[in-house]
Amino acid sequence: MAKLGYVLDEIFVQHRAPSGHPERPARAEAIRDALVAAGIASRGTQVPPRVATDGELLAVHDAMYLAQLEKVVPGRTGWLDADTYYSPGTWDAARKAAGVACQLAGDVMAGALTEAIAVVRPPGHHATRDTAMGFCLFNNVAAAAAAARAHGAARVAIVDWDVHHGNGTQDIFWDDPDILYTSVHQFPYYPGTGAPSEIGGAAAIGATVNVGLPSGATDADYAAVFDHVFVPKLLAFKPDLVLVSAGFDAFVHDPLAGMRVTTAGFAAMARRLRAVAEQCAGGRIIAVLEGGYDLTGLAGGMTEVLTAFTSPSPPAEPLAPLPTTGGVRAAIDATLAAHAAAGAPIPAP
Ligand code: ZN
Repeated sequence: MAKLGYVLDEIFVQHRAPSGHPERPARAEAIRDALVAAGIASRGTQVPPRVATDGELLAVHDAMYLAQLEKVVPGRTGWLDADTYYSPGTWDAARKAAGVACQLAGDVMAGALTEAIAVVRPPGHHATRDTAMGFCLFNNVAAAAAAARAHGAARVAIVDWDVHHGNGTQDIFWDDPDILYTSVHQFPYYPGTGAPSEIGGAAAIGATVNVGLPSGATDADYAAVFDHVFVPKLLAFKPDLVLVSAGFDAFVHDPLAGMRVTTAGFAAMARRLRAVAEQCAGGRIIAVLEGGYDLTGLAGGMTEVLTAFTSPSPPAEPLAPLPTTGGVRAAIDATLAAHAAAGAPIPAP
């Protein structure tokens, strides 16, 4: 019997943005309103946030970095880089975003939950072990992956469909063969990383998978990436848990990026990952909010994730056709070729 857990909390609205900043409290409010309207309260259990322990943060961040943030951020307003602000509510929100991601990972590994959705701010996937950047302070998904391992997961897969490359997550697990990091993103674009040739460190060749798509990619293009790269890789890797870095800035109307994904496209990705989780991870899957700056895309996209995670059994997806020519086909081919050349070929679907 599947059990959904979810995190919606006022604390994640208290990370207050400077005027005009796209990573703003209304993002969390729009998703909350949509999920409540979709009846999430009757479809799952609300999990209260808690702060991450030092141990949970130190599993993915340097002690010096934590000490530095603790000196600068609590109770204050300012900037950690040109994009990354903090407000008086940020310290508690950031520690609880990472903490509740770890809590969900532990709950899912313990069997108390099967699927989970975390609507948290600030986002996490750009934060490296020792650097805040791209609106991110703590790497929430990375902390969850480490927590899952502490709770018995041998292998964890992270699928990052945010339109930006999750450089921080990739960096943290670069040499770790037991954490698979897969990202599809606009490329080249912020933060500049995520080339197909980035496939993991010497100890973890093939455990990083990057597909960099040209601007303008559609639902069909993303489905092709999932069916011809991510899903075969995930099924071969056999994770005990699937974590989703669920950003919605590949949405067609997103102000920061140039993709053309619709809410139906996010639904198709979520259904595919739920099917993978059911096939090899006992159904264990957690979606953690990353970016996404159009409120309609955020609300609609996460509602589709809820639907995909709570449907009795996801409808079988027909295999998406591989484009025969063009930039998307070239991007997929470049990723497959890089892995094959390194002796870590991704199986055909
Ligand atoms: Zn993003």
